Amino acid sequence: MNKPEPDLMERVVSLCKRRGFIFQASEIYGGLGSCYDYGPLGVELKRNVKEAWWAAMVTSRRDVVGLDSAILQSPKVWEASGHLSGFSDPMVDCRECKARFRADDLEGRVCPNRRFKKRPATECRDAGFFTEPRQFNLMFKTFMGPVEDSASIVYLRPETAQGIFTNFLNVQGSSRLKPPFGIAQIGKSFRNEITPGNFVFRMREFEQMEMEFFVPPAEDEKWYEYWVAERLRWYVDLGVDPEKLRLRPHGEDELAHYSAGCTDVEYLFPFGWSELEGIARRTDYDLKRHSEASGTRLVFWDEETKERYTPYVVEPAAGVDRAAMTFLVDAFEEQELGVDKKGRPDTRTVLHFHPRIAPITVAVFPLVKRDGMPERADEIEADLRAEGFRTFYDEKGAIGRRYRRQDEIGTPWCVTVDGRTLEDGTVTLRDRDSMEQERLPATELSARLREALRNWSRPPD
Ligand code: ATP
Repeated sequence: MNKPEPDLMERVVSLCKRRGFIFQASEIYGGLGSCYDYGPLGVELKRNVKEAWWAAMVTSRRDVVGLDSAILQSPKVWEASGHLSGFSDPMVDCRECKARFRADDLEGRVCPNRRFKKRPATECRDAGFFTEPRQFNLMFKTFMGPVEDSASIVYLRPETAQGIFTNFLNVQGSSRLKPPFGIAQIGKSFRNEITPGNFVFRMREFEQMEMEFFVPPAEDEKWYEYWVAERLRWYVDLGVDPEKLRLRPHGEDELAHYSAGCTDVEYLFPFGWSELEGIARRTDYDLKRHSEASGTRLVFWDEETKERYTPYVVEPAAGVDRAAMTFLVDAFEEQELGVDKKGRPDTRTVLHFHPRIAPITVAVFPLVKRDGMPERADEIEADLRAEGFRTFYDEKGAIGRRYRRQDEIGTPWCVTVDGRTLEDGTVTLRDRDSMEQERLPATELSARLREALRNWSRPPD
């Protein structure tokens, strides 16, 4: 697909606001740093992302079950997991403009704010320009109960995974699953990021989709390889350009001390290759830490072999917002279609979403607002809605403009009721990607759409 890379992000952000996908949080008050609200189309997009993940990770399998643990947990959880002492980034302040940065984000010794000033950058090239790095804990703190003292401090979870580890026995005992088995969770996490940015790529409040897969220690490498491949495939199956996806194994120096390996799934965003999700070998670290700290032995008792062991863990951890942003950026295209009737360049903005990801699956229009067409279109829309399709009805404006409005939000199909519909019961079905139309009886629509949904493939570049 022919994409204008440099300002692609700006175009996507502007489309998101204009069409109601994503808004700045507290916008009427000037916004709140790196917090975003999802609008009517954005919530549907996000729901589709989560449903596709849940289907792939939980409901299509026998060996994974779900969980929804609390955002607030005992502070002892974060002490045992190492988040209280170790979940921090090195932070430096610019001595001149007081802006704060993640030390490992800075490319040179010059404050990035400098670049926008007229004075030559050489003026501030001195080693003491930034403060010495200090460790900054990324967890948000609040107080539980009426007294605001150190004994009542609780933290907003920085990841969903720990709620899974602390419930290992509850879930294993009640579901009677044996390793290898997994526990999956989708939910909000909070990180007081020092340098958030790139739209919903790095936010302070975001949503994660994490799964902890518990395996016999000897099978850990096998399952790691399995999940790395599965997770990459998930994005490809949902229509993301395989050429813009890659796997990046972490170097030894990037790994946490307990980790036996980690691979990131990365996407080529307009701002460069960046992590979409990580698949990590967490060994038995978390279950052992919580066993020691809580005094409850988080182990598996194998009735067949009469052996007790601490399972190893393979963790695919993804972000809902990063996935949603990937689908938006990857689907975005501005197509030059020659010139319009008045000789002006005709540009079509289109989101080539996979139909499972698109907020609306099918839009229904009467060609004109008379002769019984609106009534018939209304009936067809109601029938498709009752069949479970996400539908949209629109009778306003020229038909060509109505198609374009749907293209811009990624609706894969549009159905139009015209004069012939009232005579022979047929309608036109327009395809978003090819813009081709076919005629078929309205009664065959739902079967035809189901088939198209099953067979959909990414349009060629
Ligand atoms: P990064 O290196 O980008 O900070 P991370 O390696 O700390 O990410 P994990 O702790 O592995 O991230 O979290 C798993 C996933 O959660 C990430 O791959 C990402 O999709 C998502 N995620 C993490 N932090 C954020 C954030 N601040 N905003 C949006 N999504 C996030």
